[in-house]
Amino acid sequence: MSAAFKPGRCFLFRLAKGADIHERLNAFCRRNKVRCAAITVIGATEEVRLGYYDQNRRKYFNRAFKGDMEILSCVGNLTLKDGEPFAHLHAVMGDSKLRVRGGHLFPGSKVFAAEVYLHELRGRELVRRPDLQTGLALWPGPFKD
Ligand code: ZN
Repeated sequence: MSAAFKPGRCFLFRLAKGADIHERLNAFCRRNKVRCAAITVIGATEEVRLGYYDQNRRKYFNRAFKGDMEILSCVGNLTLKDGEPFAHLHAVMGDSKLRVRGGHLFPGSKVFAAEVYLHELRGRELVRRPDLQTGLALWPGPFKD
């Protein structure tokens, strides 16, 4: 399965200090009726939770990082899950010693300052559903030649 989309609206906006990145992105898309988008975020956090998916245990593990961190690169997408906008984001974070941490970004972040570039994609709806092969909530597919 593949899906061709047409470019929609482009948004640039800032998140408030203390905001939860997922919560605000999902709320922004609900309010603006964005149902599919590519997202990048840069900025800084006071708290962030990063993790990875253990493929054997089929379970996410995560760890919280408190204190100043730079959002060096946060990329992802937004599609639908359970009928609602659902942001899936990965982040590379830098600390005060310029060390880098990265992983799947979990809800519960606390923004210090953040700038969002959100590019709406228009076309068919992409809906995440439970995938038995991986244990993840994935789009229909996969793409086949
Ligand atoms: Zn992920």
